[in-house]
Amino acid sequence: MADEEAKKVVLDKSDFLNWYNDVVDVSFLCDKRYPIKGMNVWTPYGWKIMQLMDASIRRECDATGHQEVCFPLLIPKTEFQKEADHIKGFDSEVFWVTKGGNNELDIPLLLRPTSETAMYPIFSLWVRSHNDLPLKTYQIVNVFRYETKMTRAFIRVREIHFFEAHTCHKDAEDAEMQIREDCAIMDRVARDLCLPYILTRRPDWDKFAGAVYTIGVDTLLPSRRTLQLGSIHQYHENFARPYDIKYEGSDKQHHYAHQTTYGMSERMVGAVIGVHGDNKGLILPPAIAPFQFVIIPIPAKGKLEQVMDGARALEKELIALGHRVHLDARDVRPGSKHYDWEIKGVPVRIELGPRDLENGTLVFARRDLSTKRTVKRADLKEEALKELKDIEGELLSRAKAIIDDGIRRASTVEEAKEHLSKGWDGIIQTGWCTDMDCAAEMEKALDKAFLGYPLKDVASGELLFSDGQCMICGKPTKDVVYLGRSY
Ligand code: ZN
Repeated sequence: MADEEAKKVVLDKSDFLNWYNDVVDVSFLCDKRYPIKGMNVWTPYGWKIMQLMDASIRRECDATGHQEVCFPLLIPKTEFQKEADHIKGFDSEVFWVTKGGNNELDIPLLLRPTSETAMYPIFSLWVRSHNDLPLKTYQIVNVFRYETKMTRAFIRVREIHFFEAHTCHKDAEDAEMQIREDCAIMDRVARDLCLPYILTRRPDWDKFAGAVYTIGVDTLLPSRRTLQLGSIHQYHENFARPYDIKYEGSDKQHHYAHQTTYGMSERMVGAVIGVHGDNKGLILPPAIAPFQFVIIPIPAKGKLEQVMDGARALEKELIALGHRVHLDARDVRPGSKHYDWEIKGVPVRIELGPRDLENGTLVFARRDLSTKRTVKRADLKEEALKELKDIEGELLSRAKAIIDDGIRRASTVEEAKEHLSKGWDGIIQTGWCTDMDCAAEMEKALDKAFLGYPLKDVASGELLFSDGQCMICGKPTKDVVYLGRSY
């Protein structure tokens, strides 16, 4: 989109989905003009954000003993068909390759929608003995899903930038420990994004195809709808059996491996846009901002060279301090520069004019609060760090407030409707007796879907139990569930 065109758009976050599309357009995070539905082009700015998120994930995976791998994109139909539930789950979303040049292929190939069926035939060769376990791998690749619903940049696309960790363990207990570790990784990655989140064990009808159970990681948008940041799956032996992933134990017997997976995707970009952005555009958390600081020289007649020299020196110094910095040396008015970087969500814009040079000062303009303050040039190191830290704190507390206000308890349908009647449309926490008819009635009465069973906390992985009653039939139950709406 041309700059002039972008400036005509009025952003209004109260109309969330239109606002979201407009923000993606005006900040030019991707180019939607590629001629395939749901396949967008990553622009340099959008891709840099994704790369910084990937770096955060890589850092956490490497630190926990995962090894990065890269499997082929194509999967033979014969391998894909080995796990029955998995096929059912993905069949309608698969892109097929049936020809090589002019020849029909003997075995049709599919573009990975996820990589279990690509990796596990090979894992069965890699895993021989208990000494090979745990096998902890991950890859960051594109996956393909034939999405038939309306597509939306980063949130629902057909070519998805995807992170997937796949692990093999000696037993169920070790696999459970992996799930805890995955939750801890999620916690650290989400901190870089300044995104608090909700962990729920998905109801059985909503678990990943082939999984024993699935933990969903959702953040809450200001519209009070959830957006999934990631998901963690416990497979036990469900895939190890059809793919024959066995090892010889210290008891000289052969055992099936227990497996887990963990997935995250470019949806995290969507979540960052949706949670933090405002009517002026994007607001990027410092850890994933392509530029944490943009320097805007404020020239005065006859002092242009002097100001530019000062700006270049400042740029050098900030880079040496380990920050990502851009000096906007374009020949346009400082006001336009401010506006352009505001839309792109740069955490701090630094103004530097002749008077600042004389006084040894700088002006920091914060994107999140739209405030300005003057700092001493001599304190640059401390002030720059403080500013980024303060911004992280502010973004996180704003996002936490959305979640705190986004979940309300209700024992009965009437109580829930009381909440909903006041223009609040968030997550309802209630009790469920596990009867499927009650579940259906609950979803219908509230016009919401089961999000799942909330986890007590990240560290224990235990579910949150509490004495209560089923919202529909009134039977006493300890099962707590969340119902909400998601994108
Ligand atoms: Zn019931």
